[in-house]
Amino acid sequence: MRIKTKLNLSVGLLFSLIVIMVFIGGRYITALKMDTENILVANYHSLEYSRMMLSELENKSEDWEKKFEINLKKQSNNITEVGEKELTLELKEAYETFNNNRQQVEKLSQIRKCIYGIMELNIQAIQRKSEIAKATADKAITWISITGTICFVIAFILLVNLPAHIANPLKELSESIKQIAANKYSERVHFESHNEFGELALSFNTMAQKLEEYNSSNLAKLMMEKKRIETLINNMHDPVIGLDENYKILFANTEAIHISGIRKEVFIGKNILDIAKHNDLIRNLIHNIEKPEMLLSGKPQQIKIYANGKEGYFENNLLPIAITPTGEEGKQVIGHVILLRDVTEYKELDFAKTNFIATVSHEFKTPISSIKMSLQLLENEQIGKLNIEQTNLVESIKEDAERLLNITKELLNITQVESGNIQLSILPIDLKETIQYAVNANRTQLEQKKITLQKSGIDTMPKVLADNEKTAWVLTNLISNAIRYSYDNSVIELRAEMEKDHLKIAIKDFGQGIAPQYKDKIFNRYFRVPGTQKEGTGLGLAISKEFIEAQGGSISLSSDYGEGSEFTVTFNLA
Ligand code: ADP
Repeated sequence: MRIKTKLNLSVGLLFSLIVIMVFIGGRYITALKMDTENILVANYHSLEYSRMMLSELENKSEDWEKKFEINLKKQSNNITEVGEKELTLELKEAYETFNNNRQQVEKLSQIRKCIYGIMELNIQAIQRKSEIAKATADKAITWISITGTICFVIAFILLVNLPAHIANPLKELSESIKQIAANKYSERVHFESHNEFGELALSFNTMAQKLEEYNSSNLAKLMMEKKRIETLINNMHDPVIGLDENYKILFANTEAIHISGIRKEVFIGKNILDIAKHNDLIRNLIHNIEKPEMLLSGKPQQIKIYANGKEGYFENNLLPIAITPTGEEGKQVIGHVILLRDVTEYKELDFAKTNFIATVSHEFKTPISSIKMSLQLLENEQIGKLNIEQTNLVESIKEDAERLLNITKELLNITQVESGNIQLSILPIDLKETIQYAVNANRTQLEQKKITLQKSGIDTMPKVLADNEKTAWVLTNLISNAIRYSYDNSVIELRAEMEKDHLKIAIKDFGQGIAPQYKDKIFNRYFRVPGTQKEGTGLGLAISKEFIEAQGGSISLSSDYGEGSEFTVTFNLA
């Protein structure tokens, strides 16, 4: 049955019962009213007339006859009971007889008897009618109680059943809507009834089915896209690993699985931090994963990986993946991607270049040395005396040969640095001698430019841990730079001082200095400040930095542009 019909019937039934109750109540109240009116009009008035007649008869007040006759007349007009008419007529006759002859006193007692008779008749009638009224009242109570009880029972049944009958399907429907909202499209409602809820359930189930179909078609599309991306990543030649926000491995392409040396089934789905505990390569790849600030600012790190029976060089890019969730403002990291760029080819070319430079520089050293020896022989007067022009030419060739030798040495040093093969022999040394060597190596240039070298703190220096040859090279290079970039007749300061537990050697010149924008680049290989007129390779400071750092020290620059530069080198104490 439809809900509307049910509601109509229930409310209609209640309404009808109320109408019936009102009707029964009204009917019985009217009956009671009629019964009481009956008693009042029919009997109470007769009793009253009789009482008045008796009173007049006893008191015999002035014109009592008139009053008696009025009441008698009223009584004659108010005959209601069986036998009352006869008694009234008898009373009338007796009164008339007495009135005609007042001597007939016995008529008085007949009159009284008649009046009492009428009163008796009416009292009996009152009693009888009261019984009828009482019966009517009892009947009214019974019927009103019956209809009231039926009303109550029906109202109670409706109260218990009707709200649940309407609310339960609504509750089930609301639960199902929640499930659908939570993407559980297989949810259905099961109202079997053929009412409005049945229709609603049918519509809801149709909607859920359509959503399910739509969702699965979308899912199929997404799966297709996922497959496409997976194939794309798998076909990449560079290893790629994807992690979720809890560092769980979501995907890894064939190359990544290959270099990791771990089986795919074991690798995918595992927490990469757990794998890193036992796998050096993975540990190396993710060593900054828990420091987001390092990931964003840091340069890609280069690592060497042994795979496919040969060594490979890779640039490790560990990238955090951040998205802005719908409806939110801030970014949220939802995972990381490890992308290894294979740079083996470039590395091999770089090695080839380094090897080539090393071989060429090495090959240059012997002929340059023999040129230098031949020049010495030429200078020897026993072989033959040179004229002034020839002497000048020999001097110029000697300078060029010296410069060529220095460049060759620098190139050889840089090949050592680039191949990571800096051969160090770190021992406790007295830097005083090393400094003296570096100064002597630059003596000619100092004299040529008439520069004064002011030394301080040199005599009280403690011994340091350093490679004597490399340190001598660095100091020679720094003093040589200071001279080259100083003006003639100027001063160069060479200070040695203690700083915490380090020895610090500072070489300060008062030349042009270095512009602030180049300060960071000055130690890069092959970098030269644009517009530098002096000859040079741009390798000296780069080699110096590598040499000093390899022996545990540091090198830094402070420069006031236009007022000179100060290079500071620190050494560990012996
Ligand atoms: P090179 O001197 O052979 O060019 P360096 O590596 O020694 O190479 O120096 C790199 C650059 O730094 C130089 O080209 C020069 O422009 C600048 N430079 C080095 N030392 C000084 C200095 N004392 N004063 C000013 N500029 C300097």
